[in-house]
Amino acid sequence: TIGMIVINQAGQVAAGTSTNGARHKVPGRVGDSPIAGAGAYADSTVGGAAATGDGDIMMRFLPSYLAVEQMRAGVDPSAACRTAITRIKKHFPDFFGAVVCANMTGSYGAACNKRPGFSQFPFMVFNRKSNVPRQEMVDCI
Ligand code: ASP
Repeated sequence: TIGMIVINQAGQVAAGTSTNGARHKVPGRVGDSPIAGAGAYADSTVGGAAATGDGDIMMRFLPSYLAVEQMRAGVDPSAACRTAITRIKKHFPDFFGAVVCANMTGSYGAACNKRPGFSQFPFMVFNRKSNVPRQEMVDCI
Protein backbone atom coordinates (compact mmCIF):
# COMPACT_ATOMS: atom_id res chain seq x y z
CA THR A 1 0.00 0.00 0.00
CA ILE A 2 1.08 3.54 -0.72
CA GLY A 3 -0.38 5.78 1.98
CA MET A 4 -0.15 9.54 1.72
CA ILE A 5 -0.94 12.55 3.90
CA VAL A 6 -0.96 15.95 2.20
CA ILE A 7 -1.38 19.37 3.80
CA ASN A 8 -2.04 22.33 1.50
CA GLN A 9 -1.28 26.01 1.96
CA ALA A 10 -4.91 26.71 2.85
CA GLY A 11 -4.52 24.51 5.92
CA GLN A 12 -6.48 21.51 4.70
CA VAL A 13 -5.30 17.93 5.06
CA ALA A 14 -6.10 14.88 2.97
CA ALA A 15 -5.01 11.29 3.47
CA GLY A 16 -5.38 8.42 1.03
CA THR A 17 -4.12 5.03 0.03
CA SER A 18 -3.48 3.04 -3.11
CA THR A 19 -3.07 -0.69 -2.72
CA ASN A 20 -2.92 -3.96 -4.57
CA GLY A 21 -4.49 -5.60 -1.52
CA ALA A 22 -3.32 -8.90 -0.07
CA ARG A 23 -1.68 -11.86 -1.78
CA HIS A 24 -4.10 -14.74 -2.49
CA LYS A 25 -7.05 -12.57 -1.51
CA VAL A 26 -10.51 -13.99 -2.01
CA PRO A 27 -12.62 -12.33 -4.74
CA GLY A 28 -14.46 -9.37 -3.29
CA ARG A 29 -12.02 -8.72 -0.47
CA VAL A 30 -11.99 -5.02 0.30
CA GLY A 31 -9.29 -4.82 2.97
CA ASP A 32 -8.45 -1.87 5.15
CA SER A 33 -7.13 0.62 2.61
CA PRO A 34 -10.44 2.12 1.41
CA ILE A 35 -12.07 2.06 4.85
CA ALA A 36 -12.06 5.50 6.48
CA GLY A 37 -10.32 5.34 9.83
CA ALA A 38 -8.60 2.07 8.97
CA GLY A 39 -6.49 2.70 5.83
CA ALA A 40 -6.44 6.46 6.24
CA TYR A 41 -8.10 9.30 8.11
CA ALA A 42 -7.80 13.08 8.05
CA ASP A 43 -9.25 16.04 9.90
CA SER A 44 -8.14 19.53 8.91
CA THR A 45 -8.28 20.72 12.51
CA VAL A 46 -5.84 17.98 13.56
CA GLY A 47 -3.87 16.14 10.85
CA GLY A 48 -3.87 12.84 9.05
CA ALA A 49 -2.73 9.23 9.23
CA ALA A 50 -2.37 6.31 6.85
CA ALA A 51 -1.68 2.64 7.44
CA THR A 52 -0.12 -0.28 5.63
CA GLY A 53 0.23 -3.94 6.47
CA ASP A 54 -2.05 -6.85 7.23
CA GLY A 55 -5.34 -5.12 6.62
CA ASP A 56 -7.50 -8.00 7.78
CA ILE A 57 -6.06 -7.54 11.26
CA MET A 58 -5.45 -3.79 11.23
CA MET A 59 -8.91 -2.76 10.02
CA ARG A 60 -10.42 -4.12 13.23
CA PHE A 61 -8.63 -1.42 15.23
CA LEU A 62 -9.13 1.67 13.03
CA PRO A 63 -5.47 2.63 13.50
CA SER A 64 -5.62 5.78 11.35
CA TYR A 65 -8.61 7.08 13.29
CA LEU A 66 -6.95 6.26 16.60
CA ALA A 67 -3.78 8.08 15.59
CA VAL A 68 -5.68 11.21 14.52
CA GLU A 69 -7.67 11.19 17.76
CA GLN A 70 -4.42 10.92 19.69
CA MET A 71 -3.08 13.97 17.85
CA ARG A 72 -6.36 15.78 18.57
CA ALA A 73 -5.63 15.19 22.25
CA GLY A 74 -2.23 16.84 21.81
CA VAL A 75 -0.04 13.79 21.32
CA ASP A 76 2.80 14.31 18.82
CA PRO A 77 2.60 12.38 15.53
CA SER A 78 5.33 9.84 16.34
CA ALA A 79 3.72 8.92 19.65
CA ALA A 80 0.25 8.88 18.05
CA CYS A 81 1.49 6.38 15.45
CA ARG A 82 3.08 4.27 18.19
CA THR A 83 -0.19 4.19 20.13
CA ALA A 84 -2.03 2.89 17.06
CA ILE A 85 0.57 0.15 16.55
CA THR A 86 0.67 -0.74 20.25
CA ARG A 87 -3.12 -1.13 20.37
CA ILE A 88 -3.02 -3.80 17.65
CA LYS A 89 0.13 -5.43 19.04
CA LYS A 90 -1.66 -6.09 22.31
CA HIS A 91 -3.96 -8.52 20.51
CA PHE A 92 -1.72 -9.61 17.59
CA PRO A 93 1.92 -9.38 18.78
CA ASP A 94 3.34 -10.53 15.42
CA PHE A 95 1.13 -8.60 13.00
CA PHE A 96 2.75 -6.90 10.02
CA GLY A 97 2.00 -3.21 9.83
CA ALA A 98 3.03 0.44 9.94
CA VAL A 99 1.32 3.82 10.32
CA VAL A 100 2.39 7.31 9.22
CA CYS A 101 1.06 10.44 10.94
CA ALA A 102 1.29 14.19 10.36
CA ASN A 103 -0.29 17.13 12.16
CA MET A 104 -1.27 20.57 10.92
CA THR A 105 1.92 22.20 12.20
CA GLY A 106 3.92 20.02 9.80
CA SER A 107 5.25 17.63 12.41
CA TYR A 108 5.21 14.02 11.33
CA GLY A 109 6.22 10.55 12.38
CA ALA A 110 5.71 6.86 11.79
CA ALA A 111 5.65 3.59 13.69
CA CYS A 112 5.80 -0.08 12.77
CA ASN A 113 5.49 -3.41 14.54
CA LYS A 114 8.80 -5.21 14.92
CA ARG A 115 8.89 -8.79 13.70
CA PRO A 116 11.53 -11.07 12.17
CA GLY A 117 12.82 -9.40 9.00
CA PHE A 118 11.03 -6.13 9.68
CA SER A 119 12.78 -3.84 12.15
CA GLN A 120 12.66 -0.49 10.32
CA PHE A 121 10.07 1.27 8.18
CA PRO A 122 11.11 3.75 5.46
CA PHE A 123 8.83 6.65 4.58
CA MET A 124 9.16 9.72 2.37
CA VAL A 125 8.85 13.35 3.47
CA PHE A 126 8.45 16.42 1.30
CA ASN A 127 7.96 19.92 2.68
CA ARG A 128 8.74 23.52 1.82
CA LYS A 129 11.71 23.56 4.18
CA SER A 130 13.75 21.02 2.24
CA ASN A 131 11.87 21.24 -1.08
CA VAL A 132 13.21 17.83 -2.05
CA PRO A 133 11.71 14.43 -1.20
CA ARG A 134 13.71 12.73 1.52
CA GLN A 135 13.55 9.19 2.84
CA GLU A 136 13.41 8.76 6.60
CA MET A 137 13.46 5.61 8.70
CA VAL A 138 11.74 4.69 11.93
CA ASP A 139 12.74 1.84 14.20
CA CYS A 140 9.86 -0.58 14.76
CA ILE A 141 8.52 -1.11 18.28
N1 ASP B 1 -3.18 -3.01 3.89
C1 ASP B 1 -3.29 -3.65 2.58
C2 ASP B 1 -4.37 -4.69 2.62
O1 ASP B 1 -4.42 -5.47 3.56
C3 ASP B 1 -2.02 -4.26 2.11
C4 ASP B 1 -0.79 -3.40 2.19
O2 ASP B 1 -0.69 -2.50 3.02
O3 ASP B 1 0.15 -3.63 1.42
O4 ASP B 1 -5.15 -4.75 1.71
